[in-house]
Amino acid sequence: MNHQSSKLLNKYDILKLVTIQGPISRLQLQQITGLSKMTISNLVREYVDAGVIISEKKNGNSVGRKTEMLSVEPSSLLTLGIYIDNEIMKAGIIDLKGSILVDAEFPLSIEETEEYFLLKLLKLCDSVMSEELRPRLWGIVISSKGPIDIFGGSLLIGEHFPKMPIMKIVAPLEKRYNLPVYLDNDANVSALAELYFSDGYKYQNFIYVVVKEGIGSGIIIDRSLYLGSNGFSGELGHVIINQHGKPCHCGSHGCLEQYAGIPAVLAAYAQKTGRSLSWAAFEARVTRNEPAALETIDDMVACLATGLLSLINLVDPECIYLGGKIGFSLDRIITTIKSRLQERFAPIGKVELVPSKFQMSSSFIGTGALVMERNCHVEM
Ligand SMILES: [Zn+2]
Repeated sequence: MNHQSSKLLNKYDILKLVTIQGPISRLQLQQITGLSKMTISNLVREYVDAGVIISEKKNGNSVGRKTEMLSVEPSSLLTLGIYIDNEIMKAGIIDLKGSILVDAEFPLSIEETEEYFLLKLLKLCDSVMSEELRPRLWGIVISSKGPIDIFGGSLLIGEHFPKMPIMKIVAPLEKRYNLPVYLDNDANVSALAELYFSDGYKYQNFIYVVVKEGIGSGIIIDRSLYLGSNGFSGELGHVIINQHGKPCHCGSHGCLEQYAGIPAVLAAYAQKTGRSLSWAAFEARVTRNEPAALETIDDMVACLATGLLSLINLVDPECIYLGGKIGFSLDRIITTIKSRLQERFAPIGKVELVPSKFQMSSSFIGTGALVMERNCHVEM
């Protein structure tokens, strides 16, 4: 872990370590970061004084000796988390341990306009932000299906919502609540949920793959979220698996999303059987082992495995978490992909493939980690 000492560390990095690894001693923080005893003490004291970090004497390694151990007070800093997909907008208050203290949601339709979307959003945020919780909010985080302009603060989801091709979402929230507002895609936010609130911290490098209507991935390198130069990293759904394949809305041909995204899978099933199903009805058919449904899922998994191979070859992760709307068949999907990876050269076969701990909730819960993550390694 000493690799971290070469990076610019700040007080948020210390808070991140205590959040994820606590209870942890000051000595352990020194060993992990390479920072001096004095620097660690000063950074920690600031949080202890503010009631964000709790320091308690606990049994350490040496018998009979108690050590001051540090952990976070989960409800001391809260995030107003917002999640947006094709069907719903959801808002809630999330603490430093990923617990949802309160939440509410509104349905969305393809008829949304900028004006009404914003009206609904602000009403929703107001409804979860009580007088009691408001003073402890340290930021607002929006997790949305892509594409989005992370740094420009806009949703670019006009493909599904034709009446709002560019939805400037960050600025109105900043203006109304006077808090820092951060925007990221649901795959990145899901990756943070595993890193901060599950067991993701045991891996130095891992990827979170989310399979829904689109396919995305959140890439964690050196236990930090990798955003890329323009915030478009991890667009796994647009990795080309067939150069002469189906056209994609991104302008390319043969993108993974056109074979393994939910609409593509349902279209393939309809072509095979003549039946147009909802995803829930398709799930039911897979669960009761209907041959045509199983065949369709296996075709999808073969394409997904091809996409994952490209990702593994590029990033070389220790683990891939799988989440999204495929929870109903995850055992089958993981077993099939694993067997395909094991046919490849040794390091690829060693990549762990595990189900997301939070599945569909990860893209909402992970908003509770993004304020801290965005501030780590930033010069103070
Ligand atoms: Zn594409």
